Amino acid sequence: MIFQDFQPLAAIATTPTGAKRLLPLTQAAGANLWVPESLLNSVLTLPTTSLQAYAGSLKDHLAKLWNTHQGFIFCLATGAVVRLIAPLLEHKSRDPAVVVVNESGQFAISLCSGHQGGADQLARLIALQIGATPILTGASTELGLPGVDVLGVPFGWTRGEGDWTGVSAAVARGELVQVIQEAGSTLWQSHLPEKHPFYFGFPEYPATESSNKQPENPKSFKARIWISPTQRRFSPESDLAKVQWHPRVLWVGIGCERGTSRQLIEAAIRQVITANHLAEGAIAGIATIDLKADEVGLVELCRDRHWPLCIFPANILSTVTVPNPSAVVEAEVGTPSVAEAAALFVAQCKTLLVAKQIFYFDSEDKLIQNPKSKIQNRQGAVTVAIAQSKLEYTGRTGQLLLIGTGPGQLEQMTPAAQTAVACADAVIGYSLYIDLISPLLHPGQIVEALPITQERQRAQRAIALAQWGLTVAVVSSGDCGIYGMAGLVMEELQAQGWDGQTPGIQMFPGITALQAASARVGAPLMHDFCAISLSDLLTPWEVIEKRLTAAAQADFVTALYNPRSQTRTQQIVIAQQIFLKYRQPNTPVAIVRSAYRQDEEITITTLEKLLNTPIDMVTTVLIGNQSTRTYSDWMITPRGYLGFDADSE
Ligand code: SAH
Repeated sequence: MIFQDFQPLAAIATTPTGAKRLLPLTQAAGANLWVPESLLNSVLTLPTTSLQAYAGSLKDHLAKLWNTHQGFIFCLATGAVVRLIAPLLEHKSRDPAVVVVNESGQFAISLCSGHQGGADQLARLIALQIGATPILTGASTELGLPGVDVLGVPFGWTRGEGDWTGVSAAVARGELVQVIQEAGSTLWQSHLPEKHPFYFGFPEYPATESSNKQPENPKSFKARIWISPTQRRFSPESDLAKVQWHPRVLWVGIGCERGTSRQLIEAAIRQVITANHLAEGAIAGIATIDLKADEVGLVELCRDRHWPLCIFPANILSTVTVPNPSAVVEAEVGTPSVAEAAALFVAQCKTLLVAKQIFYFDSEDKLIQNPKSKIQNRQGAVTVAIAQSKLEYTGRTGQLLLIGTGPGQLEQMTPAAQTAVACADAVIGYSLYIDLISPLLHPGQIVEALPITQERQRAQRAIALAQWGLTVAVVSSGDCGIYGMAGLVMEELQAQGWDGQTPGIQMFPGITALQAASARVGAPLMHDFCAISLSDLLTPWEVIEKRLTAAAQADFVTALYNPRSQTRTQQIVIAQQIFLKYRQPNTPVAIVRSAYRQDEEITITTLEKLLNTPIDMVTTVLIGNQSTRTYSDWMITPRGYLGFDADSE
């Protein structure tokens, strides 16, 4: 679902007009719409199932909703909203998104928590749903940049310590910001606007003669962004504003005795992380042996910390080469290593960042590491090892949004499809369609435009990104499920053994070429019709000919897609010959080129003369049935054959 990051979402209106304005968002955005009790009577015409009434003051009601909701949409004066939320605001890292829509529905204003709370994104999505203009006042949006404090969100990075306001301010001032990225995806770097304030890495000193690029003087850096699993301590004295993002690349391998407490496991992990100057936020998850799948302390810890618990059987773990194998462990569980092997295996790497360490609590609950002698009466023991993966764990479930953009201009695309494009982390499609939807794109999105011939690669790339955890929009012209990308993506998923659920998939239908062409010439599709693509690139020509014959014989109105390309010129000639066998030469035919685009051309002709009009790859040919006729510049197929013209032909 498109608005899932904002659930639960509250919409609040205090007037009947306001309630009507926000009502569509109950369905489209899954919002709960609240109105004052006194208003219930005046808005009773609205479907009451979507409405909830609050008693007492809005101030008190809001206080009740504040901590449990991710987002708020008000249809109220901004001043009133500012006063209402002021006592509730805590910090931008915790406050919910707040958006204000004006009564006429012209504007959706991102009022508060634009970045971390997601109000900018919520305002964009709402604006697309209700046809409003989003008002975003953050500086980074103006500069076409993702916010410093949100750029890692698509990849599931954890925001670490630092002066987030200071670094964001430096970006807003257009000052040079050094980025030192030691881990995590660099995709975000390749999708920045041409002019951006980031300097990646360290300046080279001394400048090499061969390089004509002048190295930066470190003094010109006004801020620094670290992207790393390391926990850095920033001196408050430094005049360079610094922040740190932590991509989740650390996999903690755990082995433990039965009954080891959650406290011991947690304390041991913290000890290893701290001693190695690592950030807890960089932990991707826990890996262990399948025997520990029900180990209470471990399961509780993972649940509370939102860490995945990855388990592997002994026969897999025993194949991993580890630095510290143990014969005792092997005799006990069938693999010479649990913690080290599990960490290495899940991280898909060869060397450990931290080799195994064993911990106990002594009788005073003090953490003891690698004790020389055995502790008496100890309550459990835990082994910890850490491996670093190359690809970060996003912690997110990927989505594939298969989107039809319609035939031409943006207004022909459904608001739902437009919203889906706006909410995607990555947008993949043929460059022409990407250009078309560019007004829907926003800074920070990964936009990959691939040449028209690489459909299968496009599908594979989209799936790979979604499997990694991104929300990926795949765009086709017209409808994505009609000679579009939807089939390719689903076939490819099936070939990869997809379970039907992860990544999730959602289709956003669009107006297909035959509907667009039909609408431009009248009502040619009023009766039974079919579509046939004349492209024999993926379909044997005999099959196409068979279908043409069957359609012609059965008197279907027929839409021909892909009628002619530069190299495929004969197919349309043969199609005409086939139809001429079963239909009159004067059967009306519409040749619609680039429907709803700037270079649109429409010709109404007949079956006999159809080749006199230029036909190319952006043309759809509509062949009427026996009852189709023309009237003035229009093409009409009767609705049924039982009316006054029931017996004509
Ligand atoms: N998924 C698309 C079809 C892609 S196949 C859809 O549902 O419309 C490409 C063919 O679609 C073209 O060769 C042409 O026959 C037709 N087509 C696409 N856009 C068109 C337009 N704007 N006007 C006329 N025909 C179009």
